[in-house]
Amino acid sequence: MKTYPKSIHQTGAVSVSMLRGADADVLSVSGPNPGFAGEEKDGVLLAPLTHENAALLRKLFPFTAPKPILESVRTFGVGDRLGIAAPGHLRVFEQYDAIPVLAQQSIRELNLTGRTYADVLDSATFAVFREDFQRGFGADGDHLKTDEEVEYALSNGYTMITLDCSEQIRNDITDMTDAQVDAAYSPDGELEALYCNKTFAVEDQTVTFDEQEFRRACLIYSAALDHAVHVYETYIKGGSVDFEISIDETMTPTTPAQHYFVASELLRRGVRFATVAPRFCGEFQKGIDYIGDLDQFEAEMRVHAAIARKFGYKLSIHSGSDKFSVFPIIGRLTRGNFHVKTAGTSWLEAMRVIAMVEPSLYREVHAFALSAFHEATKYYHVTTDLNKVAPLKTLSDAQLPALFDQNDARQLIHITYGLILNAKNEDGTFRFRGRLYRCWRENDTLYYDRLETHIGRHLKLLYSEIPQ
Ligand SMILES: [Zn+2]
Repeated sequence: MKTYPKSIHQTGAVSVSMLRGADADVLSVSGPNPGFAGEEKDGVLLAPLTHENAALLRKLFPFTAPKPILESVRTFGVGDRLGIAAPGHLRVFEQYDAIPVLAQQSIRELNLTGRTYADVLDSATFAVFREDFQRGFGADGDHLKTDEEVEYALSNGYTMITLDCSEQIRNDITDMTDAQVDAAYSPDGELEALYCNKTFAVEDQTVTFDEQEFRRACLIYSAALDHAVHVYETYIKGGSVDFEISIDETMTPTTPAQHYFVASELLRRGVRFATVAPRFCGEFQKGIDYIGDLDQFEAEMRVHAAIARKFGYKLSIHSGSDKFSVFPIIGRLTRGNFHVKTAGTSWLEAMRVIAMVEPSLYREVHAFALSAFHEATKYYHVTTDLNKVAPLKTLSDAQLPALFDQNDARQLIHITYGLILNAKNEDGTFRFRGRLYRCWRENDTLYYDRLETHIGRHLKLLYSEIPQ
């Protein structure tokens, strides 16, 4: 078995490294065993990559444990749905000063991949140990909606909570007429005195609440604000966990005035948070570039970024996979102070690798994805036109990887990941999972190369216009 060259670490009299086995990696422990479970062989202990051994590794080598990171100027979340991408992701963060969030999953992703928070964090721990990445990383319980979900992430040592307030945000208000808004609004003298018919200076911009804008903001966000206050006071206050407020999964964009209202009210009610994720104008669909008016995006981003600076937090940009046309604007207008989240694009690169090296397997998975697409649209909002995906029989094997350069084909594979990973044969065994993971393991350096290039392109553009 070969030793991963950067994995050799010493603590006291104990030496721990990671070996590459045929089917699975294993820790090699020599010296007095501090408690790893494993098997003795030729005087060394071989310890499998289990949860218990990961927990001990985090104790012995603190850089393998996650920490709060959102106070850093630039942070970047790279969800790793498969648990195999982190060594490739780390190659990017060796080149850029952004601190990564390596463990980052929503409950939806955990359910669709059949993973647990413990397993997602352990994968990150083993990867930073193997690659000797000592700058620190975060672990984000992403898009958590309930008390139980927050408790689940915290009990597994997650250092960041992204509170998703979408179930408390009222989507029905935006389309109401002014008269309907007036009828629905119940007067709140305290808030009226603070916001109604007031204009606020935000750097060289202004945010104004006329009576309608004010009433709409109250109606849309008041339950969401109550929820955020509750979660903060119950779980976050007094601790060191990074707290993000996510209001992005709504039917309509967050106007700058609404963003101002939410941030200002959270602070007034004593909530301390590191990041806010508004929903920006245009479309941030999964795994493809921004769709929308770039001038409007830039004008609104200018105000959103100024609001965040005024109140002392960072903007968080969700669904950041492949939003290449807006990254330079985001880097410039946030003055390089941002949090960006990606996830699906690393899964797509994994599937591109399958198309490159095992075309017959790719064809099977692609055909399955076409049959499963309708089911997957229950979980993800996309505007995919399957008629634009070239029929497989018209493509040579060499043409398959280029499917990942076409938006509709990308979204086809993007949103069906859970159904692909969980598809079963009639005898109950997994239809694709085993073959996919075997292929990824055999071609791991190709996958890391792809990630270094592709995630690297995200960072390169985000950094391209940061003012000096
Ligand atoms: Zn989001």
